[in-house]
Amino acid sequence: MAHPRLCSNGGVKIQIRALYQTEGYRIEKISSDGERAQVELLWDERCKPRCEQCSALMRINRKTRQGAMDLPLASAGFVLVVYEAVQGYCRHCARYETVRPLEIVEQHQATLRVMRQVSLLCRWLPLARVCEFLPVVPSSAYRWDRYILQTELPEPRLDGLEAILVDEKAIRKGQGGFVTVVINARNGELLHLAEGRNKESLESFFSKLTPEQKRSIVAVGMDRSGPYRAVVKKQLPKAEIVLDKFHIIANYHEVIDRIRRRSYQQASGPAREFIKGQRYNLLRRPENVNAQGKVALKKLLAANADLHTAYVLKDELQQLWLYRYPKSAAKALEGWVELALDAGIAELSRFANGLLEAKEQIISFCKHQLTSAKIESFNALISRVIHKACGISNLDYLWLKLRQASLQA
Ligand SMILES: [Zn+2]
Repeated sequence: MAHPRLCSNGGVKIQIRALYQTEGYRIEKISSDGERAQVELLWDERCKPRCEQCSALMRINRKTRQGAMDLPLASAGFVLVVYEAVQGYCRHCARYETVRPLEIVEQHQATLRVMRQVSLLCRWLPLARVCEFLPVVPSSAYRWDRYILQTELPEPRLDGLEAILVDEKAIRKGQGGFVTVVINARNGELLHLAEGRNKESLESFFSKLTPEQKRSIVAVGMDRSGPYRAVVKKQLPKAEIVLDKFHIIANYHEVIDRIRRRSYQQASGPAREFIKGQRYNLLRRPENVNAQGKVALKKLLAANADLHTAYVLKDELQQLWLYRYPKSAAKALEGWVELALDAGIAELSRFANGLLEAKEQIISFCKHQLTSAKIESFNALISRVIHKACGISNLDYLWLKLRQASLQA
């Protein structure tokens, strides 16, 4: 039979057959009506299958005709490989083993290479859109992506961890919608994901670590509230806790918002008008406020002393993380607290006192340089992944998708 040729160009010939050549099989026929193609592979009678365990030749027990989907071929979007699955028997190992061509995954009736392609598309597209590129329904796209991630993603690297970040994330609406995550603070790799935001959700991470792996962790970044601190103190008595900048700034935004709401209730007339609708301009970085917003913000701050003070202190607060030496950072923090307390604003004083209490755990960032960039980028990543998968109800799949994204980020 003549070999069909895909192209012939300057003496380079790419044969379609080469795409389906596989040990022990011969290509019987390749046919296509343009939209669909079928490749028929028959077992080469001159070959004997070999045992995977001891490499001995096996006796052929039986052959069955099966089909598997493969990658598209030119205009043929759907390609079916029809092949003989050969069941051999190894008398040394006293076991049966079935041989298939082209790395076909029997349970999914597809070749590994088309499953990998689907998984790649699932990285960028919602499951329901994969069919725009490959003839796969969303439920198969989901199962194939899951299979590829399960078998091909590496295990979390738990050796030589130096700094980790612990955080809770809302993945669904409502009280039960939280998960606990642990991230390698240096490279952003997701190391742990567990249902809930309680002690157990974090304990289950430490139970995966050997004593030596625990000892290598010297710093743990986290939020002030929540039960994680007690778990870390118990599991890693020598590690330093670093309160995360991201969370502290977020807490401060809540303080500004409380002052804004109180001022609104207390104000009347034009002063009240200035406050209205300024929530986001107050919380944005100044460089992100547009010209119109700047005018409105100026009016508001001129009319309201409390908000003005809180707004100016917001900028000062962020400077705390620019210090490289713990002593300078401590001095700056104390200075900030003094300014905040002097203002005599109840909401600010409460925040300032909390900051002073946590001084050690805030200035420890100088030593460990734990920045919240990883937490912030992980937050963006988690919402992207959940959005793409249309709200992941399955925690195992969420773990795989987030791990994949965190490894390639
Ligand atoms: Zn054997």
